[in-house]
Amino acid sequence: MNEPLSIDTRRRAIAAAQGHCPFDVLITGATVVDVATLELRPADVGLVGAMIASVHAPGRFDQAAQVLRLDGQYLAPGLIDGHVHFESSHMLPHHYASVVVPQGTTTIFCDPHELANVLGLEGVKFAVEASRGLPLRFIVQASSCVPATPGLELSGADFQAGEIAELLALPEVAGLAEVMDMRAVLDATPRMVGILSAALDSGKIIEGHARGLTGDRLQAYIAAGITSDHEMTSAADALEKLRAGMTVEIRGSHDYLLPELVDMIKTLPVVPTSLTVCTDDVFPDHLVRQGGVIDVLRRLIKYGMDPLQALRCATINNAYRLKRDDLGWVAAGRRADLIALRDLQSLEVTQVFANGQHVAQDGQLLVPLRSRPLSLPTQTMKVAPLSPHDFEVRVDESNRAASAAPEASIAQAVVRVIKGARFTEWSETKTFVREGVAQLPSHLSRMTVIHRHGRSTLGPQTAFIEGWGRMKGAYATSYAHDSHNLVVYGVDPKEMALAANAVIEMGGGSAVVREGQVVAQLAFPVAGLLSALPPQEVAREHLALVEAAGTVIEWEGKYRTFKALSGQCLACNAGPHLTDLGLTDGGTREVHRPFLRWAS
Ligand code: FE
Ligand code: FE
Ligand code: FE
Repeated sequence: MNEPLSIDTRRRAIAAAQGHCPFDVLITGATVVDVATLELRPADVGLVGAMIASVHAPGRFDQAAQVLRLDGQYLAPGLIDGHVHFESSHMLPHHYASVVVPQGTTTIFCDPHELANVLGLEGVKFAVEASRGLPLRFIVQASSCVPATPGLELSGADFQAGEIAELLALPEVAGLAEVMDMRAVLDATPRMVGILSAALDSGKIIEGHARGLTGDRLQAYIAAGITSDHEMTSAADALEKLRAGMTVEIRGSHDYLLPELVDMIKTLPVVPTSLTVCTDDVFPDHLVRQGGVIDVLRRLIKYGMDPLQALRCATINNAYRLKRDDLGWVAAGRRADLIALRDLQSLEVTQVFANGQHVAQDGQLLVPLRSRPLSLPTQTMKVAPLSPHDFEVRVDESNRAASAAPEASIAQAVVRVIKGARFTEWSETKTFVREGVAQLPSHLSRMTVIHRHGRSTLGPQTAFIEGWGRMKGAYATSYAHDSHNLVVYGVDPKEMALAANAVIEMGGGSAVVREGQVVAQLAFPVAGLLSALPPQEVAREHLALVEAAGTVIEWEGKYRTFKALSGQCLACNAGPHLTDLGLTDGGTREVHRPFLRWAS
Protein backbone atom coordinates (compact mmCIF):
# COMPACT_ATOMS: atom_id res chain seq x y z
CA MET A 1 0.00 0.00 0.00
CA ASN A 2 2.99 2.31 0.42
CA GLU A 3 4.92 1.26 -2.70
CA PRO A 4 5.68 4.22 -4.97
CA LEU A 5 3.46 4.63 -8.00
CA SER A 6 5.28 3.43 -11.10
CA ILE A 7 6.15 5.64 -14.05
CA ASP A 8 4.05 3.32 -16.19
CA THR A 9 1.00 4.00 -14.02
CA ARG A 10 1.62 7.72 -14.29
CA ARG A 11 1.94 7.47 -18.07
CA ARG A 12 -1.34 5.61 -18.36
CA ALA A 13 -3.01 8.09 -16.01
CA ILE A 14 -1.81 11.05 -18.08
CA ALA A 15 -3.28 9.42 -21.19
CA ALA A 16 -6.55 8.31 -19.58
CA ALA A 17 -7.17 11.75 -18.08
CA GLN A 18 -7.21 13.12 -21.64
CA GLY A 19 -9.39 10.37 -23.05
CA HIS A 20 -6.53 8.74 -24.96
CA CYS A 21 -6.96 5.38 -23.24
CA PRO A 22 -9.56 3.82 -20.93
CA PHE A 23 -9.50 4.02 -17.18
CA ASP A 24 -9.21 0.83 -15.15
CA VAL A 25 -12.24 1.89 -13.12
CA LEU A 26 -14.69 4.71 -13.76
CA ILE A 27 -16.95 5.76 -10.89
CA THR A 28 -19.97 7.68 -12.11
CA GLY A 29 -23.04 9.39 -10.74
CA ALA A 30 -21.69 10.30 -7.30
CA THR A 31 -21.40 13.63 -5.56
CA VAL A 32 -17.76 14.20 -4.67
CA VAL A 33 -17.00 15.43 -1.17
CA ASP A 34 -14.26 17.96 -1.74
CA VAL A 35 -12.48 18.01 1.61
CA ALA A 36 -10.37 21.02 0.64
CA THR A 37 -13.01 23.46 -0.62
CA LEU A 38 -15.84 21.79 1.37
CA GLU A 39 -17.96 21.76 -1.77
CA LEU A 40 -20.27 18.98 -2.75
CA ARG A 41 -20.14 18.64 -6.52
CA PRO A 42 -21.22 16.04 -9.04
CA ALA A 43 -18.19 14.51 -10.72
CA ASP A 44 -17.00 11.24 -12.22
CA VAL A 45 -13.73 9.75 -11.03
CA GLY A 46 -11.38 7.71 -13.21
CA LEU A 47 -8.84 5.35 -11.66
CA VAL A 48 -5.67 3.95 -13.15
CA GLY A 49 -3.80 1.39 -11.12
CA ALA A 50 -3.46 2.56 -7.52
CA MET A 51 -4.18 6.18 -8.32
CA ILE A 52 -6.89 8.64 -9.24
CA ALA A 53 -6.21 9.75 -12.80
CA SER A 54 -9.01 12.24 -13.22
CA VAL A 55 -11.93 13.91 -11.46
CA HIS A 56 -14.08 15.32 -14.24
CA ALA A 57 -17.54 16.51 -15.26
CA PRO A 58 -20.23 13.82 -15.17
CA GLY A 59 -20.45 11.91 -18.45
CA ARG A 60 -17.21 13.38 -19.83
CA PHE A 61 -15.73 9.91 -20.39
CA ASP A 62 -17.19 6.41 -20.62
CA GLN A 63 -14.23 4.21 -21.56
CA ALA A 64 -13.14 2.01 -18.70
CA ALA A 65 -12.43 -1.64 -17.98
CA GLN A 66 -15.00 -1.41 -15.21
CA VAL A 67 -17.72 1.16 -14.53
CA LEU A 68 -19.26 1.57 -11.09
CA ARG A 69 -22.43 3.64 -10.88
CA LEU A 70 -23.00 5.35 -7.56
CA ASP A 71 -26.07 7.45 -8.36
CA GLY A 72 -27.26 9.44 -5.39
CA GLN A 73 -24.26 8.58 -3.25
CA TYR A 74 -21.31 10.60 -1.98
CA LEU A 75 -17.70 9.85 -2.79
CA ALA A 76 -15.13 10.84 -0.17
CA PRO A 77 -11.48 10.04 0.50
CA GLY A 78 -10.71 6.91 2.54
CA LEU A 79 -10.55 7.62 6.26
CA ILE A 80 -7.21 8.02 8.02
CA ASP A 81 -6.79 7.14 11.69
CA GLY A 82 -4.25 9.61 13.06
CA HIS A 83 -3.12 7.66 16.12
CA VAL A 84 -3.87 4.07 16.98
CA HIS A 85 -2.50 1.12 18.90
CA PHE A 86 -4.20 -1.69 16.97
CA GLU A 87 -3.18 -4.11 19.74
CA SER A 88 -6.05 -2.79 21.88
CA SER A 89 -8.40 -4.58 19.51
CA HIS A 90 -6.59 -7.77 20.59
CA MET A 91 -6.63 -8.75 16.90
CA LEU A 92 -3.82 -9.69 14.55
CA PRO A 93 -3.20 -7.00 11.92
CA HIS A 94 -5.04 -8.82 9.12
CA HIS A 95 -8.04 -9.39 11.37
CA TYR A 96 -7.97 -5.74 12.40
CA ALA A 97 -7.89 -4.72 8.73
CA SER A 98 -10.84 -6.98 7.95
CA VAL A 99 -12.92 -5.01 10.48
CA VAL A 100 -11.95 -1.42 9.78
CA VAL A 101 -11.57 -1.48 5.98
CA PRO A 102 -15.29 -2.16 5.32
CA GLN A 103 -15.96 0.74 7.73
CA GLY A 104 -14.02 3.05 5.42
CA THR A 105 -10.63 3.26 7.10
CA THR A 106 -7.88 2.93 4.50
CA THR A 107 -4.86 4.25 6.42
CA ILE A 108 -3.74 4.05 10.02
CA PHE A 109 -0.85 5.85 11.68
CA CYS A 110 -0.05 3.14 14.12
CA ASP A 111 2.16 3.01 17.16
CA PRO A 112 2.70 -0.65 18.06
CA HIS A 113 3.94 0.31 21.49
CA GLU A 114 2.08 -2.47 23.26
CA LEU A 115 3.98 -5.03 21.18
CA ALA A 116 7.21 -3.05 21.53
CA ASN A 117 6.96 -3.04 25.31
CA VAL A 118 6.72 -6.83 25.32
CA LEU A 119 8.98 -7.77 22.39
CA GLY A 120 11.29 -4.78 21.93
CA LEU A 121 12.44 -4.00 18.38
CA GLU A 122 10.89 -7.23 17.18
CA GLY A 123 7.46 -5.91 18.24
CA VAL A 124 7.66 -2.94 15.85
CA LYS A 125 9.14 -5.11 13.11
CA PHE A 126 6.33 -7.63 13.61
CA ALA A 127 3.78 -4.87 13.01
CA VAL A 128 5.60 -3.84 9.82
CA GLU A 129 5.87 -7.41 8.57
CA ALA A 130 2.33 -8.45 9.51
CA SER A 131 0.79 -5.48 7.71
CA ARG A 132 2.40 -6.17 4.32
CA GLY A 133 -0.04 -6.92 1.52
CA LEU A 134 -3.15 -5.90 3.48
CA PRO A 135 -5.83 -3.60 2.00
CA LEU A 136 -5.18 -1.28 4.95
CA ARG A 137 -2.22 1.10 4.79
CA PHE A 138 -0.20 0.81 7.98
CA ILE A 139 2.09 3.78 8.50
CA VAL A 140 4.12 2.60 11.44
CA GLN A 141 5.77 4.66 14.16
CA ALA A 142 8.84 4.00 16.27
CA SER A 143 7.57 3.50 19.80
CA SER A 144 9.31 6.16 21.85
CA CYS A 145 8.48 4.96 25.31
CA VAL A 146 9.74 1.49 25.97
CA PRO A 147 9.21 1.61 28.85
CA ALA A 148 7.07 4.72 29.22
CA THR A 149 8.64 5.69 32.53
CA PRO A 150 12.17 4.37 33.03
CA GLY A 151 13.00 3.96 36.70
CA LEU A 152 9.37 3.48 37.66
CA GLU A 153 8.61 0.34 35.68
CA LEU A 154 10.22 -2.45 33.69
CA SER A 155 8.82 -3.67 30.42
CA GLY A 156 10.22 -6.29 28.04
CA ALA A 157 12.86 -3.97 26.57
CA ASP A 158 14.60 -0.67 27.03
CA PHE A 159 14.77 1.64 24.01
CA GLN A 160 17.52 4.22 23.90
CA ALA A 161 18.45 6.54 21.05
CA GLY A 162 20.14 3.69 19.17
CA GLU A 163 17.02 1.55 19.00
CA ILE A 164 14.94 4.54 17.94
CA ALA A 165 17.41 5.46 15.19
CA GLU A 166 17.37 1.86 13.96
CA LEU A 167 13.57 1.90 13.70
CA LEU A 168 13.39 5.35 12.12
CA ALA A 169 15.79 4.16 9.42
CA LEU A 170 13.16 1.68 8.22
CA PRO A 171 11.25 3.05 5.21
CA GLU A 172 7.96 1.77 6.69
CA VAL A 173 8.46 3.82 9.87
CA ALA A 174 7.28 7.40 9.42
CA GLY A 175 7.75 8.96 12.81
CA LEU A 176 8.49 8.82 16.50
CA ALA A 177 5.43 7.68 18.40
CA GLU A 178 3.75 9.51 21.26
CA VAL A 179 6.35 10.81 23.68
CA MET A 180 4.71 9.88 26.94
CA ASP A 181 7.45 10.58 29.44
CA MET A 182 6.56 14.26 29.69
CA ARG A 183 8.69 14.76 32.76
CA ALA A 184 11.80 13.46 30.98
CA VAL A 185 11.15 15.91 28.12
CA LEU A 186 10.82 18.85 30.50
CA ASP A 187 13.91 17.75 32.46
CA ALA A 188 15.78 17.13 29.19
CA THR A 189 17.13 13.82 30.49
CA PRO A 190 20.01 12.38 28.45
CA ARG A 191 17.93 9.39 27.31
CA MET A 192 15.04 11.58 26.13
CA VAL A 193 17.32 14.14 24.47
CA GLY A 194 18.96 11.24 22.62
CA ILE A 195 15.62 9.83 21.48
CA LEU A 196 14.31 13.22 20.36
CA SER A 197 17.58 14.01 18.58
CA ALA A 198 17.36 10.74 16.66
CA ALA A 199 13.84 11.68 15.59
CA LEU A 200 14.73 15.27 14.68
CA ASP A 201 17.73 14.05 12.66
CA SER A 202 15.47 11.65 10.74
CA GLY A 203 13.21 14.49 9.64
CA LYS A 204 10.21 12.33 10.47
CA ILE A 205 7.09 13.21 12.47
CA ILE A 206 7.21 13.42 16.28
CA GLU A 207 3.97 12.53 18.04
CA GLY A 208 3.02 13.77 21.49
CA HIS A 209 1.16 12.70 24.59
CA ALA A 210 0.80 15.94 26.51
CA ARG A 211 -1.73 14.94 29.12
CA GLY A 212 -2.41 17.80 31.51
CA LEU A 213 0.36 20.03 30.14
CA THR A 214 -0.47 23.71 30.07
CA GLY A 215 1.27 27.10 30.09
CA ASP A 216 5.07 27.07 30.35
CA ARG A 217 5.27 23.31 30.55
CA LEU A 218 3.27 22.89 27.36
CA GLN A 219 5.42 25.44 25.53
CA ALA A 220 8.56 23.67 26.71
CA TYR A 221 7.24 20.29 25.61
CA ILE A 222 6.53 21.67 22.13
CA ALA A 223 9.90 23.42 22.03
CA ALA A 224 11.45 19.97 22.29
CA GLY A 225 10.16 19.24 18.78
CA ILE A 226 6.93 17.39 19.62
CA THR A 227 4.03 18.44 17.46
CA SER A 228 0.78 16.69 18.36
CA ASP A 229 -1.46 15.58 21.21
CA HIS A 230 -4.47 13.32 21.63
CA GLU A 231 -4.79 13.48 25.43
CA MET A 232 -7.35 16.27 25.66
CA THR A 233 -8.95 16.78 29.06
CA SER A 234 -11.27 19.67 28.16
CA ALA A 235 -12.20 22.07 25.38
CA ALA A 236 -9.97 24.72 26.94
CA ASP A 237 -7.08 22.25 26.87
CA ALA A 238 -7.71 21.51 23.18
CA LEU A 239 -7.92 25.20 22.32
CA GLU A 240 -4.68 25.98 24.14
CA LYS A 241 -2.95 23.19 22.21
CA LEU A 242 -4.35 24.34 18.86
CA ARG A 243 -3.19 27.88 19.62
CA ALA A 244 0.21 26.50 20.58
CA GLY A 245 0.59 25.06 17.09
CA MET A 246 -0.01 21.42 17.86
CA THR A 247 -1.91 18.96 15.74
CA VAL A 248 -4.85 18.09 17.96
CA GLU A 249 -6.06 14.54 17.41
CA ILE A 250 -9.64 14.22 18.67
CA ARG A 251 -10.05 10.68 19.93
CA GLY A 252 -13.28 8.86 20.41
CA SER A 253 -12.44 7.04 23.62
CA HIS A 254 -13.52 9.92 25.88
CA ASP A 255 -17.03 10.43 24.58
CA TYR A 256 -18.05 12.79 27.38
CA LEU A 257 -15.52 15.33 26.06
CA LEU A 258 -16.75 15.38 22.48
CA PRO A 259 -19.74 17.73 22.92
CA GLU A 260 -17.63 20.47 24.50
CA LEU A 261 -14.90 20.00 21.88
CA VAL A 262 -17.47 20.40 19.11
CA ASP A 263 -18.89 23.52 20.76
CA MET A 264 -15.40 24.99 21.04
CA ILE A 265 -14.58 24.20 17.39
CA LYS A 266 -17.77 25.95 16.31
CA THR A 267 -16.63 29.18 17.96
CA LEU A 268 -13.51 29.35 15.76
CA PRO A 269 -13.65 31.37 12.55
CA VAL A 270 -12.20 28.39 10.70
CA VAL A 271 -11.69 24.74 11.56
CA PRO A 272 -7.89 24.53 11.72
CA THR A 273 -6.08 22.18 9.36
CA SER A 274 -4.28 21.01 12.48
CA LEU A 275 -7.45 19.39 13.81
CA THR A 276 -7.58 15.66 13.15
CA VAL A 277 -9.25 12.53 14.51
CA CYS A 278 -7.95 9.27 15.88
CA THR A 279 -9.07 6.19 17.82
CA ASP A 280 -6.05 5.44 20.05
CA ASP A 281 -7.32 2.36 21.93
CA VAL A 282 -10.57 0.64 20.93
CA PHE A 283 -11.76 -2.65 22.40
CA PRO A 284 -12.71 -5.45 19.99
CA ASP A 285 -16.45 -5.45 20.65
CA HIS A 286 -16.65 -1.68 20.22
CA LEU A 287 -14.56 -1.85 17.03
CA VAL A 288 -16.77 -4.54 15.51
CA ARG A 289 -20.14 -3.12 16.59
CA GLN A 290 -19.70 0.66 16.61
CA GLY A 291 -16.56 1.06 14.55
CA GLY A 292 -13.23 2.84 14.57
CA VAL A 293 -12.75 6.27 12.95
CA ILE A 294 -16.20 6.11 11.38
CA ASP A 295 -17.72 5.90 14.85
CA VAL A 296 -15.74 8.95 16.02
CA LEU A 297 -17.04 10.90 13.02
CA ARG A 298 -20.62 9.81 13.58
CA ARG A 299 -20.48 10.97 17.16
CA LEU A 300 -18.88 14.29 16.25
CA ILE A 301 -21.73 14.84 13.79
CA LYS A 302 -24.28 13.76 16.40
CA TYR A 303 -22.86 16.40 18.75
CA GLY A 304 -23.29 19.09 16.13
CA MET A 305 -20.18 19.12 13.99
CA ASP A 306 -20.69 19.79 10.30
CA PRO A 307 -20.26 16.45 8.48
CA LEU A 308 -17.95 17.93 5.87
CA GLN A 309 -15.73 19.42 8.55
CA ALA A 310 -15.66 16.09 10.37
CA LEU A 311 -14.72 14.24 7.18
CA ARG A 312 -12.05 16.80 6.51
CA CYS A 313 -10.42 16.14 9.89
CA ALA A 314 -10.25 12.42 9.11
CA THR A 315 -8.92 12.80 5.58
CA ILE A 316 -6.98 15.74 4.22
CA ASN A 317 -6.04 17.09 7.65
CA ASN A 318 -4.57 13.74 8.67
CA ALA A 319 -2.82 13.52 5.28
CA TYR A 320 -1.22 16.93 5.88
CA ARG A 321 -0.20 15.77 9.31
CA LEU A 322 1.39 12.64 7.89
CA LYS A 323 3.18 14.67 5.20
CA ARG A 324 1.45 12.46 2.65
CA ASP A 325 0.56 14.49 -0.43
CA ASP A 326 -0.74 11.32 -2.03
CA LEU A 327 -3.54 10.71 0.47
CA GLY A 328 -6.72 12.30 1.76
CA TRP A 329 -8.35 13.96 -1.25
CA VAL A 330 -10.53 12.94 -4.19
CA ALA A 331 -8.20 14.52 -6.72
CA ALA A 332 -6.07 13.46 -9.66
CA GLY A 333 -2.61 12.23 -8.74
CA ARG A 334 -3.66 10.97 -5.33
CA ARG A 335 -3.95 7.39 -4.25
CA ALA A 336 -7.29 5.87 -5.11
CA ASP A 337 -8.40 5.43 -1.49
CA LEU A 338 -12.10 6.19 -1.76
CA ILE A 339 -15.29 5.55 0.15
CA ALA A 340 -18.88 5.84 -1.01
CA LEU A 341 -21.40 7.09 1.55
CA ARG A 342 -25.18 6.64 1.41
CA ASP A 343 -25.67 10.02 3.10
CA LEU A 344 -23.76 12.56 5.16
CA GLN A 345 -25.54 12.07 8.47
CA SER A 346 -25.40 8.35 9.15
CA LEU A 347 -22.18 8.01 7.13
CA GLU A 348 -23.21 4.56 5.97
CA VAL A 349 -20.25 3.27 3.96
CA THR A 350 -21.33 1.32 0.87
CA GLN A 351 -18.07 0.94 -1.09
CA VAL A 352 -14.39 1.11 -0.26
CA PHE A 353 -11.46 1.41 -2.66
CA ALA A 354 -7.93 1.08 -1.32
CA ASN A 355 -5.00 1.83 -3.59
CA GLY A 356 -7.28 1.50 -6.60
CA GLN A 357 -8.66 -1.86 -5.58
CA HIS A 358 -12.36 -2.33 -4.83
CA VAL A 359 -11.91 -3.90 -1.39
CA ALA A 360 -15.28 -3.69 0.38
CA GLN A 361 -18.98 -3.35 -0.37
CA ASP A 362 -21.91 -2.94 2.02
CA GLY A 363 -19.82 -3.89 5.03
CA GLN A 364 -18.28 -6.97 3.43
CA LEU A 365 -14.67 -7.39 2.44
CA LEU A 366 -14.33 -8.23 -1.28
CA VAL A 367 -10.72 -9.35 -1.27
CA PRO A 368 -9.12 -12.28 0.49
CA LEU A 369 -6.78 -11.10 3.21
CA ARG A 370 -3.34 -12.27 2.52
CA SER A 371 -2.71 -13.69 5.94
CA ARG A 372 0.79 -14.69 4.98
CA PRO A 373 2.14 -17.31 7.29
CA LEU A 374 3.45 -15.21 10.10
CA SER A 375 5.67 -16.45 12.79
CA LEU A 376 3.72 -15.35 15.82
CA PRO A 377 5.54 -14.21 18.94
CA THR A 378 4.20 -16.45 21.71
CA GLN A 379 5.54 -17.78 25.04
CA THR A 380 5.92 -14.34 26.57
CA MET A 381 4.58 -15.09 30.05
CA LYS A 382 7.92 -15.51 31.76
CA VAL A 383 6.49 -16.00 35.22
CA ALA A 384 6.05 -19.09 37.41
CA PRO A 385 2.66 -20.06 38.84
CA LEU A 386 1.66 -17.93 41.81
CA SER A 387 0.35 -18.78 45.26
CA PRO A 388 -2.02 -16.78 47.48
CA HIS A 389 0.99 -15.59 49.51
CA ASP A 390 2.13 -13.61 46.48
CA PHE A 391 -0.86 -11.28 46.88
CA GLU A 392 -0.19 -10.17 50.46
CA VAL A 393 1.04 -6.78 51.59
CA ARG A 394 4.08 -7.70 53.66
CA VAL A 395 5.43 -5.60 56.48
CA ASP A 396 8.87 -6.14 57.95
CA GLU A 397 8.30 -6.50 61.71
CA SER A 398 11.95 -6.53 62.64
CA ASN A 399 11.99 -2.78 63.02
CA ARG A 400 9.05 -2.72 65.40
CA ALA A 401 10.18 -1.53 68.83
CA ALA A 402 9.76 -4.17 71.47
CA SER A 403 8.01 -1.61 73.62
CA ALA A 404 5.31 -0.96 71.03
CA ALA A 405 3.13 -3.75 72.28
CA PRO A 406 5.36 -6.50 73.60
CA GLU A 407 2.53 -8.62 74.86
CA ALA A 408 0.57 -8.53 71.61
CA SER A 409 1.22 -10.70 68.55
CA ILE A 410 -0.90 -8.31 66.54
CA ALA A 411 0.49 -4.89 65.76
CA GLN A 412 -1.05 -2.02 63.91
CA ALA A 413 0.67 -0.29 61.03
CA VAL A 414 -0.13 2.56 58.74
CA VAL A 415 0.30 1.57 55.10
CA ARG A 416 0.09 3.49 51.86
CA VAL A 417 -3.06 3.25 49.76
CA ILE A 418 -3.61 4.25 46.13
CA LYS A 419 -6.86 6.13 46.03
CA GLY A 420 -8.89 6.55 42.88
CA ALA A 421 -9.27 4.95 39.52
CA ARG A 422 -7.77 6.68 36.48
CA PHE A 423 -6.89 9.81 38.44
CA THR A 424 -5.05 8.68 41.55
CA GLU A 425 -3.79 10.19 44.77
CA TRP A 426 -2.02 8.93 47.86
CA SER A 427 -4.01 7.84 50.86
CA GLU A 428 -3.23 5.69 53.89
CA THR A 429 -4.92 3.28 56.22
CA LYS A 430 -4.32 1.84 59.68
CA THR A 431 -4.39 -1.92 59.69
CA PHE A 432 -3.47 -4.95 61.77
CA VAL A 433 -0.29 -6.84 60.95
CA ARG A 434 -0.35 -10.60 61.60
CA GLU A 435 2.87 -12.52 61.14
CA GLY A 436 4.23 -9.90 58.80
CA VAL A 437 1.08 -9.59 56.72
CA ALA A 438 -0.99 -6.40 56.65
CA GLN A 439 -4.68 -7.28 56.86
CA LEU A 440 -6.95 -5.81 54.21
CA PRO A 441 -9.44 -3.35 55.75
CA SER A 442 -13.02 -4.06 54.76
CA HIS A 443 -13.47 -0.92 52.62
CA LEU A 444 -10.43 -1.57 50.42
CA SER A 445 -9.34 -3.99 47.68
CA ARG A 446 -5.97 -5.19 46.46
CA MET A 447 -3.94 -4.80 43.32
CA THR A 448 -0.85 -6.84 42.49
CA VAL A 449 1.65 -6.39 39.65
CA ILE A 450 4.00 -9.20 38.68
CA HIS A 451 6.85 -8.65 36.23
CA ARG A 452 6.38 -11.04 33.33
CA HIS A 453 9.24 -10.30 30.92
CA GLY A 454 12.03 -12.18 32.68
CA ARG A 455 14.05 -9.05 33.42
CA SER A 456 13.43 -8.64 37.16
CA THR A 457 13.78 -10.77 40.28
CA LEU A 458 11.79 -8.41 42.46
CA GLY A 459 8.69 -10.57 42.81
CA PRO A 460 5.02 -9.55 43.05
CA GLN A 461 4.16 -6.06 44.28
CA THR A 462 0.86 -5.61 46.10
CA ALA A 463 -0.91 -2.46 47.21
CA PHE A 464 -4.22 -1.67 48.86
CA ILE A 465 -6.50 0.36 46.61
CA GLU A 466 -9.41 2.61 47.45
CA GLY A 467 -12.25 4.06 45.42
CA TRP A 468 -13.20 0.99 43.39
CA GLY A 469 -15.76 -0.33 45.83
CA ARG A 470 -15.12 -3.67 47.47
CA MET A 471 -14.41 -6.17 44.72
CA LYS A 472 -16.46 -9.34 44.58
CA GLY A 473 -13.92 -11.65 42.99
CA ALA A 474 -10.73 -11.19 41.03
CA TYR A 475 -9.58 -10.01 37.61
CA ALA A 476 -6.16 -10.70 36.07
CA THR A 477 -4.68 -9.57 32.77
CA SER A 478 -1.40 -9.52 30.85
CA TYR A 479 -2.68 -6.49 28.87
CA ALA A 480 -1.94 -3.48 31.08
CA HIS A 481 -0.55 -0.30 29.53
CA ASP A 482 2.17 0.08 28.77
CA SER A 483 4.61 -2.35 30.29
CA HIS A 484 2.06 -5.15 30.09
CA ASN A 485 3.12 -6.92 33.20
CA LEU A 486 0.68 -9.31 34.87
CA VAL A 487 -1.82 -7.21 36.82
CA VAL A 488 -4.32 -8.66 39.26
CA TYR A 489 -7.19 -7.06 41.18
CA GLY A 490 -9.28 -8.56 43.95
CA VAL A 491 -9.81 -9.03 47.65
CA ASP A 492 -9.15 -12.69 48.43
CA PRO A 493 -5.53 -13.77 47.67
CA LYS A 494 -6.76 -17.26 46.75
CA GLU A 495 -9.08 -15.88 44.07
CA MET A 496 -6.37 -13.52 42.83
CA ALA A 497 -3.93 -16.42 42.48
CA LEU A 498 -6.56 -18.43 40.60
CA ALA A 499 -7.15 -15.61 38.11
CA ALA A 500 -3.41 -14.94 37.68
CA ASN A 501 -2.61 -18.61 37.11
CA ALA A 502 -5.40 -18.88 34.53
CA VAL A 503 -3.71 -16.06 32.60
CA ILE A 504 -0.26 -17.65 32.93
CA GLU A 505 -1.63 -20.99 31.74
CA MET A 506 -3.19 -19.37 28.65
CA GLY A 507 0.18 -17.87 27.74
CA GLY A 508 -1.35 -14.44 28.36
CA GLY A 509 -4.85 -13.08 28.36
CA SER A 510 -7.48 -11.94 30.82
CA ALA A 511 -9.50 -13.90 33.37
CA VAL A 512 -12.33 -13.16 35.79
CA VAL A 513 -12.87 -15.18 38.97
CA ARG A 514 -16.05 -15.20 41.05
CA GLU A 515 -16.90 -17.40 43.99
CA GLY A 516 -13.73 -19.38 43.56
CA GLN A 517 -14.29 -20.14 39.85
CA VAL A 518 -12.95 -18.78 36.59
CA VAL A 519 -16.16 -17.41 35.05
CA ALA A 520 -14.72 -15.73 31.94
CA GLN A 521 -11.39 -15.80 30.17
CA LEU A 522 -9.89 -14.72 26.87
CA ALA A 523 -6.48 -15.94 25.73
CA PHE A 524 -3.90 -13.57 24.22
CA PRO A 525 -1.26 -16.07 23.15
CA VAL A 526 0.48 -13.54 20.88
CA ALA A 527 2.76 -11.46 23.09
CA GLY A 528 0.18 -11.74 25.88
CA LEU A 529 -1.72 -9.03 23.96
CA LEU A 530 -3.37 -10.47 20.88
CA SER A 531 -5.79 -13.27 20.20
CA ALA A 532 -5.42 -15.35 17.06
CA LEU A 533 -9.20 -15.80 16.82
CA PRO A 534 -11.28 -14.17 14.07
CA PRO A 535 -12.68 -10.71 14.94
CA GLN A 536 -16.26 -11.79 15.66
CA GLU A 537 -15.08 -14.32 18.20
CA VAL A 538 -12.64 -11.94 19.85
CA ALA A 539 -15.45 -9.39 20.08
CA ARG A 540 -17.92 -11.87 21.56
CA GLU A 541 -15.49 -13.24 24.12
CA HIS A 542 -14.29 -9.79 25.03
CA LEU A 543 -17.83 -8.63 25.67
CA ALA A 544 -18.37 -11.63 27.95
CA LEU A 545 -15.18 -10.70 29.77
CA VAL A 546 -16.29 -7.10 30.27
CA GLU A 547 -19.70 -8.27 31.52
CA ALA A 548 -18.09 -10.69 33.98
CA ALA A 549 -15.58 -8.10 35.18
CA GLY A 550 -18.49 -5.70 35.69
CA THR A 551 -20.01 -8.07 38.24
CA VAL A 552 -16.72 -8.18 40.17
CA ILE A 553 -15.84 -4.51 40.09
CA GLU A 554 -18.65 -2.00 40.19
CA TRP A 555 -16.81 1.27 40.22
CA GLU A 556 -18.52 3.04 37.33
CA GLY A 557 -20.10 2.05 34.06
CA LYS A 558 -18.76 -1.29 32.90
CA TYR A 559 -16.65 0.17 30.11
CA ARG A 560 -15.01 2.94 32.05
CA THR A 561 -14.19 0.50 34.80
CA PHE A 562 -12.78 -2.03 32.39
CA LYS A 563 -10.69 0.56 30.60
CA ALA A 564 -9.39 1.85 33.91
CA LEU A 565 -8.25 -1.65 34.87
CA SER A 566 -5.80 -1.77 31.97
CA GLY A 567 -4.59 1.80 32.52
CA GLN A 568 -3.93 1.71 36.23
CA CYS A 569 -0.17 1.06 35.88
CA LEU A 570 0.51 4.10 33.67
CA ALA A 571 3.29 5.54 35.78
CA CYS A 572 3.99 8.33 33.29
CA ASN A 573 0.79 10.05 34.38
CA ALA A 574 0.64 12.14 37.54
CA GLY A 575 -0.12 10.51 40.89
CA PRO A 576 0.66 7.14 42.47
CA HIS A 577 0.67 4.00 40.33
CA LEU A 578 1.56 0.44 41.20
CA THR A 579 4.05 -1.14 38.81
CA ASP A 580 6.28 -4.21 38.87
CA LEU A 581 8.81 -2.10 40.81
CA GLY A 582 6.43 -1.04 43.57
CA LEU A 583 4.37 1.97 44.55
CA THR A 584 5.56 4.70 42.21
CA ASP A 585 4.98 8.42 42.33
CA GLY A 586 4.85 10.08 38.91
CA GLY A 587 5.45 13.49 40.51
CA THR A 588 8.48 12.82 42.70
CA ARG A 589 9.74 9.84 40.69
CA GLU A 590 10.13 7.83 43.88
CA VAL A 591 9.31 4.17 44.42
CA HIS A 592 7.83 3.28 47.80
CA ARG A 593 6.98 0.19 49.84
CA PRO A 594 3.49 0.00 51.37
CA PHE A 595 4.64 0.34 54.99
CA LEU A 596 4.63 3.88 56.33
CA ARG A 597 4.93 3.61 60.15
CA TRP A 598 3.81 1.66 63.16
CA ALA A 599 0.59 2.94 64.64
CA SER A 600 0.65 4.06 68.20
FE1 FE B 1 -1.38 8.77 24.80
FE1 FE C 1 -1.88 6.33 22.41
FE1 FE D 1 -0.68 1.63 25.49
